[in-house]
Amino acid sequence: MSCRELDWQRATSLLRSSDEVVLVCHVAPDGDALGSMLALGAALRSRGTRVVASWGSEPFEVPANYGFLPALDLLVPAQEVPAAPEVLVTLDSGSVDRLGTLADRVDTAAQVLVVDHHTSNTSYGSVHLVDRGAAATAVLVAELLDRLGVPLTAEVAAPLYTGLVTDTGSFKHASTSPQVHELAARLLATGIRHDLINRAIWDTQPFGYVRLLGEVCARARLEADAAGGLGMVWTDVGADDLERHGLGLSDVEGVIDVLRTAVEAEVAAVVKCDPADGLWKVSIRSKGSIDVGAVCTGLGGGGHRFAAGYTSPADLPSTVAALRAALADACHLAP
Ligand code: 5GP
Ligand code: MN
Repeated sequence: MSCRELDWQRATSLLRSSDEVVLVCHVAPDGDALGSMLALGAALRSRGTRVVASWGSEPFEVPANYGFLPALDLLVPAQEVPAAPEVLVTLDSGSVDRLGTLADRVDTAAQVLVVDHHTSNTSYGSVHLVDRGAAATAVLVAELLDRLGVPLTAEVAAPLYTGLVTDTGSFKHASTSPQVHELAARLLATGIRHDLINRAIWDTQPFGYVRLLGEVCARARLEADAAGGLGMVWTDVGADDLERHGLGLSDVEGVIDVLRTAVEAEVAAVVKCDPADGLWKVSIRSKGSIDVGAVCTGLGGGGHRFAAGYTSPADLPSTVAALRAALADACHLAP
């Protein structure tokens, strides 16, 4: 459902009347989280608002693929985020726990504006710009900036384009509507280098990643009976794999995009060990028959119908066993 007119009015009047705004996106930010946050941050700063932006997880480092983004100087480490902000804006975070160590600011802030598009959004906060049908949070930020009367400059367009291209999988996913292409056209008209942005996001990897991709794909397992006979393909990326190739967790986000091409499997899963806490993070994709967002919500995470994830408290074999069971249940319950 799209946002209500009343919510747009509340959001714009809140931002117009605030001298200082704190922006926070979800932990381990991706292109939509970072892009939405930096676009809004750059736009508000151009209007004279004091802005800080952050996220509540370690490492507090912009992933190398997003190092080209403008307005990175807005970022401050989580420890430096004001304890009780007047106005907190959360971006691309469907629930309070997705804010990590900054989750408490939802309680301490006087006003909380939530800008998000996750189907699993829990309706936290005081003002809601939540459109579960939007292709990216960046789409909502673009409309917010239009309504605030902020001109679309390249500084704002580059991060918005980053969010749009990330969450639509390069304009391939079903969420890619005519409106998405119209927005992309407006962004390109500002003169941004979409060729360089796309190369930085998708086609720039250290050689170690190429080696790791080969290894983890070579040991991928195809389970034809999983997901009610629709099939699952999965692999794991251990902390030892990351260390051997000199990579971090954010470097291996693309493994799932290769794995999910296996036509024999409805569901693809990559189980990745987070070296920061030793916990297994599970990324899941489906081809359309199974709502993996609902499956992941049931396992303590969330996401969208066809792309979702969660963190598992168990070891690798138990994590995969629990996933198998949840997928079998989802197929059993499906109409
Ligand atoms: P990815 O597999 O690319 O990390 O995430 C796919 C989608 O699932 C994204 O929309 C992301 O926000 C969501 N997601 C991934 N991990 C988690 C998680 O631990 N909790 C929740 N609530 N959502 C997640
Ligand atoms: Mn998003």
